[in-house]
Amino acid sequence: MRVVVLTGAGISAESGVPTFRDADGLWEGHRVTDVATPEAFVADPETVHRFYDARRAALDTVEPNPAHRALAELGEALGDDLLLVTQNIDDLHERGGSPDVLHMHGRLRSALCAACDARTPWEGPMLDAPPCAGCGEAALRPDVVWFGEVPLGMDRIVEALESAEVFCCIGTSGAVYPAAGFVQHAAAYGARTVELNLVPSEGTAYFADSRHGPASALVPAWVAETLAEVRA
Ligand SMILES: [Zn+2]
Repeated sequence: MRVVVLTGAGISAESGVPTFRDADGLWEGHRVTDVATPEAFVADPETVHRFYDARRAALDTVEPNPAHRALAELGEALGDDLLLVTQNIDDLHERGGSPDVLHMHGRLRSALCAACDARTPWEGPMLDAPPCAGCGEAALRPDVVWFGEVPLGMDRIVEALESAEVFCCIGTSGAVYPAAGFVQHAAAYGARTVELNLVPSEGTAYFADSRHGPASALVPAWVAETLAEVRA
């Protein structure tokens, strides 16, 4: 069975990762949309680095939850037939046991060199402008997709949506495109569509099956059902 799963902020929120919408979207008096754009990075790189350095450091204080672990179990059973796509920039899927995750909005624990495009695993702060290990330029930026930039891996995602038998969307607001359009795309190509979300998302009407409650409860139950079907 070919399955595409899309996860969003809701699945990480249950592990204690703050979402962009928490605290009215403010960080140290800045609107989050003002520190998550290429323009902000050009105008004030220190503030943008401090924002992402803090988010990266906070990853040490959170752990994957049963929803992350259940998706790792699904991946173990389905192998290449599962494409796990996340809008999250944390590493909770990886730490929950999923080795191959498509981070369409990038990753906190990765640095992208604006000079040579090299990507490097990154744990510490970037505020002190360390040089790129590849080209030596002090041009590292957070390897995240900012507002106004194109999400990563779209070709692979669209191809997988078109051949999926099941599309499952977990913990997303259904408000941010292009991800909000995945359900209609998958359904148009014949996939069964499932929403697992704390509350009905903005796109809930597009799903054939919508279930509402905590991801840490709904996702393990859905994975168990899906695995039973695969093994039948
Ligand atoms: Zn470089």
